[in-house]
Amino acid sequence: MARRIILANPRGFCAGVDRAIQTVDTILRAAHGPRADGLPPVYVRRQIVHNRHVVEQLASRGAVFVEELDEVPHEAAAAGIPVVFSAHGVSPAVQREADRRGLAVVDATCPLVGKVHREVLRFVREGYEIVYIGHNGHDEAVGVVGESPEHVHLIEHASDVDGLDFAPDTKLVLLTQTTLSVDETADVIAALQRRFPWIELPPSSDICYATSNRQEAVKLVARQADCMVVVGSANSSNSVRLMEVANEALGARGEAHRVDDADEMDPSWFDGVESVGVSSGASVPDELVAGVVARLRGLGFTEVDAVETIQENMHFVLPKELRARR
Ligand code: SF4
Repeated sequence: MARRIILANPRGFCAGVDRAIQTVDTILRAAHGPRADGLPPVYVRRQIVHNRHVVEQLASRGAVFVEELDEVPHEAAAAGIPVVFSAHGVSPAVQREADRRGLAVVDATCPLVGKVHREVLRFVREGYEIVYIGHNGHDEAVGVVGESPEHVHLIEHASDVDGLDFAPDTKLVLLTQTTLSVDETADVIAALQRRFPWIELPPSSDICYATSNRQEAVKLVARQADCMVVVGSANSSNSVRLMEVANEALGARGEAHRVDDADEMDPSWFDGVESVGVSSGASVPDELVAGVVARLRGLGFTEVDAVETIQENMHFVLPKELRARR
């Protein structure tokens, strides 16, 4: 029997990533080449999405990526050069800094991340303390916690619950980062409910549709495979979670490997492997998956099947600052 590749569907771009990339692309296309004053057509604060290839490709077309707004020169503010906020969102402090500098912000924060920001504001207004499950230092978590640092208590793992202390009359609610592992988060929630039985859960999960759909698909594929390759960058939370979910589903049968692209694959991973599953994070262009599939074909995996768990039809309109430009 031929060695086979099993592709997970859905995989790759989600609606929030697509919108963020389209945002920068729309500005670049409208710029019609280099400016006479030597300024770039657009600045982007942080990686627009957590994928090295996407960032390099947009940078090659003229987008300038900065870590902080103070790297955007005054002349750019005066000339009205757009500054795009990434899909992961920003804290109010960053927005205030942009306002103070008079920067022409185009906010590409994913609407599903924006929803969590609004939940923080609403619950704080109603007198709640918020337990937020997220990754310390991740752009999305920094932005959400920044909405109300004194009332948002960030934890990462079930073991962190011991470090929390709330009186029984404290109004308590749970919110989460959008890209967590569904299963691992369930364990953390269980630990929280044991310690604080009155904690309230949000009306709908903050883990987004794209994260949970990709994890479901990867689980199904991993159960049929001897090994998994997950395409995605090391700083992409949802890609790393996908690899962890795949590893969990594979169990002792094999291992899941995360790669940025086909060049990072080690042929020895596939010694004795009959079926290799392939998926990709929500920030990963499908051409990178095509590269992985081509390399696997070269290693003798000539049959390609796909497993689909759900069809996605989510779409977000461009940020309001850009809608007039299209
Ligand atoms: S992974 Fe989810 S929250 Fe993040 S950009 Fe995509 S749709 Fe939005």
